[in-house]
Amino acid sequence: RRIGDLIRAGEHSYSFEFFPPKDEEGEAQLWDAIRALEPYRPTFVSVTYGAGGTTRDNTVGITGRIARETSLVPMAHLTCVGHTRDELEATLDAFAVAGVVNILALRGDPKDGPRAAWTPTEGGFTYAVELVELAAKRGDFSIGVAAFPDGHPSSASLEADAEVLLAKQQAGAEFAITDMVFRASDYAALVARSAAIGVDIPILPGIMPILNLRQITRMAELSGKAIPAEVVARVEKHADDPAALRAEGITMAAELCEDLLAAGAPGLHFYTLNRSKATLEIFAQLNVTV
Ligand code: FAD
Repeated sequence: RRIGDLIRAGEHSYSFEFFPPKDEEGEAQLWDAIRALEPYRPTFVSVTYGAGGTTRDNTVGITGRIARETSLVPMAHLTCVGHTRDELEATLDAFAVAGVVNILALRGDPKDGPRAAWTPTEGGFTYAVELVELAAKRGDFSIGVAAFPDGHPSSASLEADAEVLLAKQQAGAEFAITDMVFRASDYAALVARSAAIGVDIPILPGIMPILNLRQITRMAELSGKAIPAEVVARVEKHADDPAALRAEGITMAAELCEDLLAAGAPGLHFYTLNRSKATLEIFAQLNVTV
């Protein structure tokens, strides 16, 4: 069950992203979320690789367990951070053995965040496109890559960024997933910019609802850029009422999903933070049912 084929075959793809938990409590929460979301029959679910300081060794374990114990199609993220080519080959082989055929091939961020200077590991890779090439040669993987609606924080220009996406497609990427999107127009502009130079792989927009004010700062740190002022203003109106703020965040995310699908998005990729509640609230507003 290759994600590249599944996205093209279905009407709209829905997918959920998780991260490897740090402890047993986190593990229980993750599996609660997986089990709660499973009945919605997402096209796939993905597990990050050492993103935002989370543990990395567990990505093989969790995606393998999803493949073995659930009806879900897992995708493993993999980054070049701190790895030699040999280590990346070994990890790709471990995914294949665990029954994971879908890989999101990424460069990863320096440990000081997305804006910090990137230093490649000796014997490793400089850019994600090299990992795409490696995965394409190493096994029968369906390979996805990252895309950035406002450009990657360290890229020279939006045009240069689109060229990077084209290079990844030419190296064998079958689909792309974007960083968090806050305005459908930003996503549509990315797709148009990319299509204009020959990118024709499906690009799934990434959705993360704003549920509290603290999260706004955290989201900006993670993506390396500020959240649009009009989006922040809309939730900040409820700064003194956390429940109303959360509800507004969910409504805004549901509206965004509708706008994205109307703009031609082939699906929606939800950053779940290992919880099911917010995603299911968005689904309820979108009338997506089990
Ligand atoms: P690249 O494609 O290598 O791009 C990195 C920078 O180099 C960009 O500025 C690009 O424009 C530039 N560049 C690329 N190729 C060239 C070239 N040939 N010449 C000149 N410049 C070039 N991080 C994690 O650590 N773990 C995760 O699990 C994870 N999951 C993610 C999931 C999604 C959907 C997204 C959008 C991001 C995820 N990230 C994750 C973050 C990601 O690793 C960072 O955004 C990273 O900074 C860029 O990764 P990339 O794969 O786009 O890198």
